[in-house]
Amino acid sequence: MPKHCWFVCFLLAYGLCNGQDTTRVEIDLKLLDGERLKVKVYPPADTEQKWKFVIPQIIPGTYMKINYVRSYRKIAAYDHAGAQLKTVKKGNVIHIRQGAHPLSHLEYEIEQSLGNGPVWDNILTCAGTIFTDSSYLFNFQLVNGYFEGYRKKPFKIIFTKEKDLYGAGSLKAITRTSQYDEFHATDYAELVDRPLLYATADTSSFQIKDHRFQIAVHSELGYVNASKVKPALQRIMHAVDTFSGFITSEDYYFILYYVNMDRIKGLFKTFGLGSALEHNASSVYYNSDYANYDTLFRNLDWIATHEYFHTIAPLTLHTEKIHDFNFARPDMSRHLWLYEGVTDYLSALVNTQSASLSNSMSRDFGYDLTYALKRKPRSLTQSSEHIIKSNMFNWLSKMLQLGNFYSKGKLVAFGIDMELLERSGGEMRLLDVLLKMRTDYEGKYIPDDQLLDKLAEYSFPEMRTYFAQYIGVVTT
Ligand SMILES: [Zn+2]
Repeated sequence: MPKHCWFVCFLLAYGLCNGQDTTRVEIDLKLLDGERLKVKVYPPADTEQKWKFVIPQIIPGTYMKINYVRSYRKIAAYDHAGAQLKTVKKGNVIHIRQGAHPLSHLEYEIEQSLGNGPVWDNILTCAGTIFTDSSYLFNFQLVNGYFEGYRKKPFKIIFTKEKDLYGAGSLKAITRTSQYDEFHATDYAELVDRPLLYATADTSSFQIKDHRFQIAVHSELGYVNASKVKPALQRIMHAVDTFSGFITSEDYYFILYYVNMDRIKGLFKTFGLGSALEHNASSVYYNSDYANYDTLFRNLDWIATHEYFHTIAPLTLHTEKIHDFNFARPDMSRHLWLYEGVTDYLSALVNTQSASLSNSMSRDFGYDLTYALKRKPRSLTQSSEHIIKSNMFNWLSKMLQLGNFYSKGKLVAFGIDMELLERSGGEMRLLDVLLKMRTDYEGKYIPDDQLLDKLAEYSFPEMRTYFAQYIGVVTT
C-alpha cells in the first residue's frame, strides 16, 4: 500500500477515535456547591471562529415553552490561551465572539431546577434536575445545549464522582470506573432522550421473555427502594405483554425519584408533585416520599402503562415535528390527540382488560366526558397548535386545555376503536393499526398534514368522515 494511503487511513482512524465532530461535556459531581454544579463544554474540533451555543426552549413530550436558560449561570468562554472570550446572551442562544485564539471551551454553573421558577414557567421535575449531596437527576437540556451546526453530531459526557455513586439510565456507558464515567450519545436528541440518575446504587431488574427491564430508585427519606417497586412493575409489564407484546428493542429503564416533601415550598407543593415523562428506552417518575405509601404501588398501574405506550406514539410513530425536533423554538405537531389521547386510551384499556391492574375505564370515561364538555369547542388539531401559544397569563386555562387531550382525546380514540371493530367485523382494533404503522414507520416520519390520511389508508377510507368530525382537517 502506498505511503500516502496509510497516512489517510491513520487520519481517518484518528478522527474517528477522537471524535472530531463530538461535543464533550465534563461534570464534576464532587464540586456540588449548594444547588449548583460546574460544567465544562468543549466544542467539536473545527476552524469555526464564532460559535453559537443553543439552549432548548422546549423538549419532546412537554407542551410548554420553558426558559431553561435560567438554570445556566455564570457562562464564560475561554480560548486556547486561557483568555476569556466575550459572550452575548440573546434569548436562549449564547453568542461567543471571536478572540485572538479559537474557542477552547465554555464554563458555567447549572442550578437545580426543582422549584426555581414561577409556577407557569415550571420545569416538570421528572424532566428537570435535582442535586443533593447524595443524588443527582440529570435531564440534559438543563446540563448542556448544543453548538449550532452540531445538534445532529455526537456528544461525550464525562462525570467525575465519588466512588459510591452509580449513574443509572439508558445513556450508553463507554467507561465506568469508581471515580470516572464516560457516556456517549449519537446526537443531542438522543442525549435529551436518555436522562440519568446518579445516586448510591439502588437498582433491580427483571426479565419477561427476551426483554429486560431495569429499575433505579432514589428515595430521599428511604421509604421506597427498587426491590419494593419491582413486583409492581413486573405485574404491570406482564399485563402490557399480554395486551400488546413488547415494542422496545433494548433494555428499558424505570427511573423513580421520591422527594422529601419538606423540601418543597409554596405552589410547587400543589402543582409540582407527581409527574412522569416518557423516553424511547426509559421513563422518569417523580413522587413524594412518605412513610405510609401504597405498598402495591397502584399509582403506577396507569402512569407506567401510559409512559410505556408512548413508545408507540409519539416516540416511534410520529410526524416530522417530533422526528426532527426543534429544541430552539417550539413548533408543535397538530396530533397531540394521538400522542396523549390515544396513549391514555391504550393505558385505560390495558388497565381495564387486565385482572392484575386496577383502573376502571368506565370510571375514567365518566370523568373524561364531563371534563371535555367544559372545554372550548375547538378541533383537536387546532388545540394542539394553539397549546404552545399560551403561557403566563392564561396558564390555568392552558393546563385545562392540555388536560383535554387526555379526556376528549381518549374518548375520540375509544370512538375510533369502536368504528374499526364495527367495520372489520371485530377483526381490526386501533392497537393493531398503530402497531402496524409503528413497524412500517420506524426511523421515519409521516408528514404532519398527512397523518390522518395515513391512518385512513391503514384502516378504512370511510374513517376520514370520523376524523373530520372529531379530530380535524383531513387533506383529501
Ligand atoms: Zn403522556
